[in-house]
Amino acid sequence: MKEESAKQNIGICKFCGQEEKLIKAHIIPKNFYLARKNDKYLCINSKTGEYTYQQQGGYDSNILCKDCDNHILGEFDKEGYRVLFGDFNKYKYIQTYPQGKIYQLDSNNFDYTKLRNFFISILWRASISQLEEWTNINLGGYERKAFDILIGEREYPELFKILIYKNSYTEDINEEVLIAKGKTSKYKKYIIQMAGYRIEVMVDSTRITNKYKLQYETYFLNPTYAHIIETPEVSKRIKQEYNMRMRNLYEKGFVPPKPPGIN
Ligand SMILES: [Zn+2]
Repeated sequence: MKEESAKQNIGICKFCGQEEKLIKAHIIPKNFYLARKNDKYLCINSKTGEYTYQQQGGYDSNILCKDCDNHILGEFDKEGYRVLFGDFNKYKYIQTYPQGKIYQLDSNNFDYTKLRNFFISILWRASISQLEEWTNINLGGYERKAFDILIGEREYPELFKILIYKNSYTEDINEEVLIAKGKTSKYKKYIIQMAGYRIEVMVDSTRITNKYKLQYETYFLNPTYAHIIETPEVSKRIKQEYNMRMRNLYEKGFVPPKPPGIN
């Protein structure tokens, strides 16, 4: 009995604030790791950019209790999974180029609050995590605001503007899972890449230039529409950035591990 309680990881849950048994909480839900074979996860350290195959990837055992992880944040994860892994043949789309599509889901097809919270909760989890691999992801003063959104206390519609891009290539790239800081000095932007998606989150839209706003406003996730943008330009950019990361790694003498089962 004594041994049993020693094994239990008791701590303060960052979501409900209660002293609870804390569980292995994934920063990015494990369904979004496509390379999840034999319970191994391809993870990229947000700081060093190093690739590792972890036995049980991407979780933090010190942030969430089971109830909050499964029943509150888990509900957001479910909506993210339902929409992003949904049947795209059923989604309406606008054909932009011969190969470019912008899927347009209306409010009957998605739950705005849950879907928005899904993306915000990934950043929030990475931000509160003390693990080395997430040290580059820090929402600072916006961390509390993200939390207030997640608990339904506030909406902050001008914060956490989200663009959803889908990679049209079905290659190894889609196994990459990462959260990275966007390269811009004017405003805070994060990129979440997972399961062939590239999610761009502008933390504070009041800092975005008007030109940028005009260009993207229609496509920001909003209560009426969720747009999923799949264009050759975006896919090309995802691939270029992937290749660049790989090249940097090779130059540093680092050899990315092979996916499990591949020799
Ligand atoms: Zn809790």
